[in-house]
Amino acid sequence: MSDQGLLVVLSGFSGAGKGTLIKALMDKYPNDYCLSISATTRAKREGEVHGVDYFFLEEEEFLENIREERLLEYARYVDNYYGTPKEYVLEKMADGKNVILEIEIQGALKIREKIPDCILLFITPGEAMELERRLKKRGTETEDAIKNRLRRAAEEADYMKEYDYIILNEDTEKSLEMVHNIISSEKLKTGRNKQIIYRITEDLKAYTKEIDQDRR
Ligand code: 5GP
Repeated sequence: MSDQGLLVVLSGFSGAGKGTLIKALMDKYPNDYCLSISATTRAKREGEVHGVDYFFLEEEEFLENIREERLLEYARYVDNYYGTPKEYVLEKMADGKNVILEIEIQGALKIREKIPDCILLFITPGEAMELERRLKKRGTETEDAIKNRLRRAAEEADYMKEYDYIILNEDTEKSLEMVHNIISSEKLKTGRNKQIIYRITEDLKAYTKEIDQDRR
């Protein structure tokens, strides 16, 4: 198997249940996955912790991170900046961990350009109006913020087709197994295992050459 971890980009409409799904995946398979912690300029929500949920930065600090090229990608989403710290992601992939980025679509498309063999997963409920219900139930956004997030979702829907896989998230346990199966299968692709293919081929050729020489 390839030693390098995969970069898995997980996007989905606000309210699609990404957070719950990722938490369940990490709880079930803690040795396989690492979650990248993003930087953002958005205000902390109740219960969120700096360095756990996000690195909460002032706009000036965020802009400095952009200038210093410390972000793998960044985007503006509903009036705030969000970005992926580069160093952590590259280190963990080199350690063999599959790194999950929970990011929105502009960021996902930038990651695809920079690291083409990443896997893009899009999470959505089966019904569009389920999103509003979930956002209201979560109770973390104002009415206006919910409307903005739904407007943004309507724009984002055009880009779902750019993703490699669509996960219809109706049951967290089923969805996490779908995600885990996709990633496990992706790791087995021949294109990601060129070294093994080369080693086995070379060993077999060398061995059969020896057999042929012994016969003479
Ligand atoms: P929220 O404010 O609900 O935590 O996140 C808003 C959106 O920003 C979500 O769609 C989330 O996936 C996205 N997001 C979080 N971190 C990043 C990041 O580092 N880069 C980009 N491009 N989007 C992010």
